[in-house]
Amino acid sequence: MRSISILGATGSVGASTLDLIRSNREAWKVKALTANCNVSELAAMAREFSAELAVVADESCLAELREALSGSGIEVASGTQALCDAAAMGADVTLAAIVGCAGLAPTMAAIEQGGTIALANKEALVSAGDVMIASVKKYGATLLPVDSEHNAIFQCLAGDDLANVRWITLTASGGPFRTWTQAQLEQATPDQAVAHPNWDMGAKISVDSATMMNKGLEFIEAHHLFPVGMERLRIIVHPQSVVHSMVEYRDGSTLAQLGPSDMRVPIASTLAWPSRMDTDLEPMDLASIGSLDFEATDEARFPATRLAREAIKKGGAAPAVLNAANEVAVAAFLAGQIGFTRIAAEVERNLETTDEKAPASLEEVLAVDAATRRRAAELLERE
Ligand code: NDP
Repeated sequence: MRSISILGATGSVGASTLDLIRSNREAWKVKALTANCNVSELAAMAREFSAELAVVADESCLAELREALSGSGIEVASGTQALCDAAAMGADVTLAAIVGCAGLAPTMAAIEQGGTIALANKEALVSAGDVMIASVKKYGATLLPVDSEHNAIFQCLAGDDLANVRWITLTASGGPFRTWTQAQLEQATPDQAVAHPNWDMGAKISVDSATMMNKGLEFIEAHHLFPVGMERLRIIVHPQSVVHSMVEYRDGSTLAQLGPSDMRVPIASTLAWPSRMDTDLEPMDLASIGSLDFEATDEARFPATRLAREAIKKGGAAPAVLNAANEVAVAAFLAGQIGFTRIAAEVERNLETTDEKAPASLEEVLAVDAATRRRAAELLERE
């Protein structure tokens, strides 16, 4: 039996993970489950899986959680430090699935235990970059990518020498607006943006998928996880989301990972790694899928992937600034304060005008994140 803690248990990735554990109850002991403030869901999960600890990030939700779990024997806690303590409980696997840079400190706390971290929380790696990778090395932690593209690349690499790699190709569905004109994009609403054609995901990543910032963040994530150099990383649009990414080797062989658009596949791959586990997903039926299409990205309509490359080139604090500015802009879009195309424009404005210094520690990354959020919010107010 192995133990697991799930940071962001009430989210889309968290729920998919618990679904896999539900079908393999005898194999897993659940230590900590965390949420922001979704108390009813968290309490139900904690009871169902007999968790040791349930944590809400939002301290104002603690009383409700305590009430919901009274008599269960499950410990409760709240706040950022409690999230970090939950992450540091030394579970065999810690699944990092909080959305946004809010997941960074807990993810780093898990890394510092030197265990296995299944990483879905891409914003944490984008923001902390080299600081996180250095910590992984320092503490001997194992970072397994949950993001379907990076999980695909991880499987295609299978431990092969990166010097043998000619290209790493991230596939992108293109999101719900792939075929929309610029004029249509100007009018896109939050409801339309979160209605992803292939994947069922949380609101923030769904908007990122619509702007293609998700692919920009993934490009930066891949740059850190598979350091082949950004000139050997590329993105291709593949509307069916069947091929989750590819690795081309120097002999001309290309390996691809295929599977349904269901996060339980990459999550299962990380839970069972280096072995495999059963899932109850339907076998893939390529005959009914029929054809697999590929097309180039259009950075005139979707500039986010260009911004991500520029952030890597600029280095230092730029990726953390890109991420924080994007989080602020996406929240403003979801709240109906700005239009869809303003999201990338605001990120670009922040990147062009930032004077943040390169962060060298977790505290410095968090300081860049906080300062950028304040500034991005001010810039939004001005226009
Ligand atoms: P959701 O929005 O569905 O869930 C987010 C989770 O984080 C919830 O448990 C939420 O709690 C918690 N949370 C939100 N804000 C905070 C905060 N400030 N402090 C602590 N916890 C917080 O997100 P997803 O599951 O879609 O995504 C999670 C991460 O995984 C993201 O980084 C995303 O990019 C990545 N990812 C997601 C994929 C997907 O298919 N969904 C695919 C690949 C990567 P509460 O419920 O209380 O709000």
